[in-house]
Amino acid sequence: MDYFKESLYLHQYLKGKIRMTPKMDVRSKEDLSLVYSPGVAEPCRAIAADPEKVWDYTIKGNTVAIVTDGSAVLGLGNIGAKASIPVMEGKAMLFKRFANIDAFPICLDTQDTEKIIETVKIIAPVFGGINLEDISAPRSFEIEERLQDIGIPVFHDDQHGTAIVVLAGLINAAKLVGKNLFDLKVVINGAGAAGVAIARLLRCVDHVGNTECISVREVIMCDSKGVIHAGRDDLNSSKQEVLQYTNPSGKSGTVHDALQDADVFIGVSVGGLLKAEDVQRMANDAIIFALANPDPEIMPDEAYKGGAAIVGTGRSDLPNQVNNVLGFPGIFRGALDAQARRITPSMKLAAAYAIADFIPNPTRESIIPASLQEQVAWKVAEAVREAALKDM
Ligand code: NAP
Ligand code: MG
Repeated sequence: MDYFKESLYLHQYLKGKIRMTPKMDVRSKEDLSLVYSPGVAEPCRAIAADPEKVWDYTIKGNTVAIVTDGSAVLGLGNIGAKASIPVMEGKAMLFKRFANIDAFPICLDTQDTEKIIETVKIIAPVFGGINLEDISAPRSFEIEERLQDIGIPVFHDDQHGTAIVVLAGLINAAKLVGKNLFDLKVVINGAGAAGVAIARLLRCVDHVGNTECISVREVIMCDSKGVIHAGRDDLNSSKQEVLQYTNPSGKSGTVHDALQDADVFIGVSVGGLLKAEDVQRMANDAIIFALANPDPEIMPDEAYKGGAAIVGTGRSDLPNQVNNVLGFPGIFRGALDAQARRITPSMKLAAAYAIADFIPNPTRESIIPASLQEQVAWKVAEAVREAALKDM
């Protein structure tokens, strides 16, 4: 099937993919007096007297805003707010489908950090959570960080959603090849939203004092210029920060150099960068997560040729698809159910372990659940809710 052509027809036919549906019909004068004036005055007065009642009397507790500025949409780049709407509608469908959450696209016609922050703050009253989406790095780091205290979870899925699913896959992959997480040497290629968040989670940067987080032994991070090391003068703020918990021996070089004796390669960059020889240079039983979309950094057959033990990609037509849809619906469901004020590090860890635990006996072709597997979101939700309640 030509997905591009058929999808265009589908979007034209449906005129967009989601709609708003009232929870009851308004048929009689009584109905009208209850759902609207005069009756509606009473819940309004109750909320005015006690703002926390907004969770009881409105849609807030089940509604998520998917906020984007259209600056880093899929692999399409900076295509702007209007062009991002189909992606955000699709995401809203997945929220509903997997976690029964009403999510809504909020595509902002600005790429100004201050304006985005201000806008999210002022639209927050009606939402129980904010999913930041497809906002380019490094602005996305600052935007998320500065919105952590607005009283509802603000979660940049391209960062943490990806990192959580990668950790889940890595837990099971390590189990399968008989290596310990804390022994792993990991090379991450790509230092954007996904790469930096993966490095932080694998090194337990946000988990100081939390013994449940197991840090991998070493992470080396690369961008389009090669290994990120202190001798470079072209590092943006987030890449400078990454130096604190990556590349302990201060090596320079290319990603190909960095792969010498590495146990794990995680690609969140661009397609077609590695060859079988690169995998050969890695340690025995190498684990490869080549996640660039639509074309992975290395195709599985090429990676297996180089001796890889396990290969995951971002593609639905190949085994071991690392896809954020395994994470975000359940993470927000759990957060909403706990009325969490933010997504804490232990909630993220709980989500990763819940996804990993879903596959008790991983195999080479199945280290993480399939993206459309029904029960994953509900398992994740339960684990995240429990972690949230403990953190409150
Ligand atoms: P991003 O913020 O734009 O970051 C892209 C990073 O890749 C940048 O650091 C860039 O380097 C680096 N890069 C570009 N060309 C490179 C090269 N030839 N060698 C090494 N690094 C290179 O994008 P993102 O949101 O992190 O996503 C990155 C990729 O991962 C995309 O393909 C995306 O589709 C994929 N991804 C997949 C999943 C999944 O679940 N499968 C999830 C998230 C992301 P500079 O900083 O030097 O420009
Ligand atoms: Mg995204």
